[in-house]
Amino acid sequence: MERRFEINMHDFRYKNNHLFCESVRIEDIASNVGTPFYLYSYRTLIDHFGKLQEAFKEVNPLICYSMKANSNSAILRALVKKGAGLDIVSGGELFKALRSGCVPRKIVYASVGKTTREIREAIRRGILFFNVESIPELELINSIALSLRKTVQVAIRINPDVEPHTHRFITTGKLTNKFGIDFETARRIFLQRNRFASLKINGLHMHIGSQIIESSPFIGAIRRVAAFVAELRRLGVRLKYLNIGGGLGIVYKNERPQTAAEFASAVMPILRKTGLKIILEPGRFIVGNAGILVARVLYIKRSKTKTFAIVDAGMNDLIRPALYEAYHEILPLREISHSVRTKYDVVGPICESADFLAKDRTMPKLAVGDLLAVMGAGAYGFSMSSNYNQRLRAAEVMVNKNQFFITRRREDYSDLLKGEVIPGFLK
Ligand code: PLP
Repeated sequence: MERRFEINMHDFRYKNNHLFCESVRIEDIASNVGTPFYLYSYRTLIDHFGKLQEAFKEVNPLICYSMKANSNSAILRALVKKGAGLDIVSGGELFKALRSGCVPRKIVYASVGKTTREIREAIRRGILFFNVESIPELELINSIALSLRKTVQVAIRINPDVEPHTHRFITTGKLTNKFGIDFETARRIFLQRNRFASLKINGLHMHIGSQIIESSPFIGAIRRVAAFVAELRRLGVRLKYLNIGGGLGIVYKNERPQTAAEFASAVMPILRKTGLKIILEPGRFIVGNAGILVARVLYIKRSKTKTFAIVDAGMNDLIRPALYEAYHEILPLREISHSVRTKYDVVGPICESADFLAKDRTMPKLAVGDLLAVMGAGAYGFSMSSNYNQRLRAAEVMVNKNQFFITRRREDYSDLLKGEVIPGFLK
């Protein structure tokens, strides 16, 4: 079988026709934990984080891993132990971020819909700053900070109105998106900052979208934001932080995304000039290629027009194909040397036609019981999974060298009842 992945992209590789994660044969994990399960390579995870650290070392940035991409506590802890901060978007993420050992001064908080309770908790815990997305939110944070007698740091999330050339559902930096604040409004906020007595509005934030494979949209947006920094400086506004968000694309199929080093060399000249503390918020780049989803073929079903490989993982486990028509490479755990290839729709058991992992995919001939690896599933995989169709959420496993560790047990049926209450009149 064609080996599509570059050696240093991840640590999932065939050895003697069996797919390994680092030094562990993945079939051995499957026979131990059952299927489906997510599998993460510790080395790949750390390696990707390290690549960003290395590429940006000259500006000594704070890299706040965007935990929405994958919030398994073992992943968080692994990154936090390497010095990562965390980018959060909810009270639940704050809770898990702190549980993972992240110090509050390395946590930044974005989201267009922060609640009073979430804001209060984040202020009490002493996070580094909020990325603020609207004037009403600014007013709310100010009044909560006042009531808590605290001064709170705030970065204004700029919507730079750039086209990032990615899927429309993961585009966030156009004025038609709900995110961020346009330059004109931001300017007004800075000029009237004395209105917000309990805030230190001393940062700018941008995040223009996800799975962006070229540097040019970043360069365009960062240039605009950097020009704004200079303009504010002329107006007497002193800033401290510049948060350039996440969004770096990865290889799913045959994309050629910029590497961390290419990205850094493209944007560093602009960043350097600002003189501000640089924050990055990558998610997918760090964890995307560090994880796979392993599933088993349940049935091969032939219709008049298609051959379906029905597997035991569905859109509740990995929604990206259904939601974004995303492509994920699918590899058999046992490399098949014969040349018979068939075109399959690889589908899950869920009662939706959108429940597919691959469409019209030419693959080596599959049989019932075969194990498959859905590649590049580390980001927005488990973290977007659900119990739809009352399916149990999958186990998560992490490999480090020649050992594997269950980092989240597979749900059981009692999990499906957790929190549900039958009203008295129905008893
Ligand atoms: N920062 C913000 C504000 C986001 O909304 C997101 C993703 O949606 C990220 C960072 C992480 O994006 P990515 O995983 O593409 O790096």
